[in-house]
Amino acid sequence: MARKIHCPKCGGTNCSSHRKGFNWGLGCLGFLFLNILGLLLGWIGSRKRVCYCHDCGMNWEM
Ligand SMILES: [Zn+2]
Repeated sequence: MARKIHCPKCGGTNCSSHRKGFNWGLGCLGFLFLNILGLLLGWIGSRKRVCYCHDCGMNWEM
């Protein structure tokens, strides 16, 4: 599975990460110009991962 994530705030490892959702702004823009093909732009723009620390509630992007 994924590597252990360390919280930048408290240093704890009780963290979970998930892929940031579909980028609707970019997806809709792409759809407007390229239709279905453009929708893929939304997925390309959603590569970032968002992490959450269960100990202190810190949220950060990777
Ligand atoms: Zn933390």
